[in-house]
Amino acid sequence: MPESLESLKSGSLITFEGIEGCGKSTQIVMLAERLRKLGHAVVISREPGATRLGKQLRDLLLDPTHDPDALTELLLYLADRREHCRRVISPALDRGEIVLLDRFVDSTWVYQGFAAPAAAAVGESAAVSAENIDMLNRLVVGAYWPQLTCLLDCPAEIGLKRARQRNIETGDVGIADRFEQRQLYFHEQVRAGFLHLAKVEKERFCIFDAARSIADIHDEIWQEFSRRIRLSAICR
Ligand code: ADP
Repeated sequence: MPESLESLKSGSLITFEGIEGCGKSTQIVMLAERLRKLGHAVVISREPGATRLGKQLRDLLLDPTHDPDALTELLLYLADRREHCRRVISPALDRGEIVLLDRFVDSTWVYQGFAAPAAAAVGESAAVSAENIDMLNRLVVGAYWPQLTCLLDCPAEIGLKRARQRNIETGDVGIADRFEQRQLYFHEQVRAGFLHLAKVEKERFCIFDAARSIADIHDEIWQEFSRRIRLSAICR
């Protein structure tokens, strides 16, 4: 069973979720900087590819010449996640560090269990059921369920516009990953999926209006972070 907020003795596992371009990596870096200034050890990580085996899995997943079915793709992502938990997340939490993840269990549920079946109705391949994804996620992650999930919510159009701009700035034009190439409809389904999860797991999720300025979002995340994770000792 996932650890409850109160029972987790060491470390904190915080995840950031939302559609492409909503600002997850931007906010993670800002939060990490603020925490580090206060003397905290912070680990930033993301999937796929945070471990040696994970890097090889990532290459397979992003290779457009492969065309795995939904279950195969899911199992590759989950194999990567298992390694991530064992070799990065678990050791960091054991050292009492704060782990900030750019996407985690919820993205799998939303992208592969919620948005993909919806997109299948307009011609994409069928997916694994949301129930099976939830079961597999919990099996793979074990005790390392997030304590707090920051959902950066904004319309798909805004997120995709930002992501496109970012890719132009970083020179990634033309090599956008498979998810960014999907239709607006798919990204709207992704947004709806995250909002659905946030409603179901009210305690764990905190929704932030990601259409606002970077600084405003950061301030709100900091306030919520301080309150929810009870870091009163470090935030004074
Ligand atoms: P994600 O990690 O969710 O895909 P990023 O953090 O990479 O998103 O942000 C995508 C782009 O949008 C980046 O160029 C970033 O500087 C910009 N950005 C992030 N947050 C905001 C915001 N609140 N307002 C305007 N631009 C933003």
